[in-house]
Amino acid sequence: MKTIGLIGGMSWESTVTYYKVINETVKEKLGGLHSAKCLLYSVDFEEIEACQAQGQWEESGIILTQAAQALERAGADFLVICTNTMHKVAPQIQRDVSIPLLHIAKATARQLHRQGITRVGLLGTRYTMEQDFYKEVLRQEGIQVLIPGEKDRNLVNDVIYHQLCLGIISPQSRKEYLRIIGELAEQGAQGVILGCTEIGLLVSQENTSVPLFDTTLIHGRQAALFAMGMEE
Ligand code: GLU
Repeated sequence: MKTIGLIGGMSWESTVTYYKVINETVKEKLGGLHSAKCLLYSVDFEEIEACQAQGQWEESGIILTQAAQALERAGADFLVICTNTMHKVAPQIQRDVSIPLLHIAKATARQLHRQGITRVGLLGTRYTMEQDFYKEVLRQEGIQVLIPGEKDRNLVNDVIYHQLCLGIISPQSRKEYLRIIGELAEQGAQGVILGCTEIGLLVSQENTSVPLFDTTLIHGRQAALFAMGMEE
């Protein structure tokens, strides 16, 4: 079994889910007392968020590259960045390590293809929804991406940073998210990507009939399968 190198802490609330999904997948496939071989480098999210807010992506990339190199030195066979947003600096990180990186948007695109989805809604931080680094990866995989209007993008973004990353789960926010998911479906989205690793803490498939693609669950599961040399 390969050793997974996790770059986590962004936020730690969702890194907990990664650890759980990865181990549950190994248990499902191998049974018994099997569990995942993994290393976790958990950063201080306050530092990363400050870089994001000031547009200092290069600086945040340096912090994450140092984490990635530490994981490589410690014996990780491949890397998993446990956040959608920070995949903005994935190319910068990949440049300075020699182990591969399992990209979260590519993992999600694989799952979308499996379910025959070609037009999808995307919820995430405003960086993920508005900038191209993430949507472009999906487009290159032949997937059309819809995002909410500006007011709703602000709402989705604020809930992530002011509630979910702090472990606050609000029924009112869940209601708003479900409204936005419903509206994306009405506009033609065949499903909605939960493109922020904390959103699954707020909404899940039981809450809606719109197919949801929870990037934390998808990414974590694919990491475990890759570590075991398996495919879905
Ligand atoms: N975990 C979130 C994501 O998947 C947001 C936190 C961050 O900015 O990294 O995008």
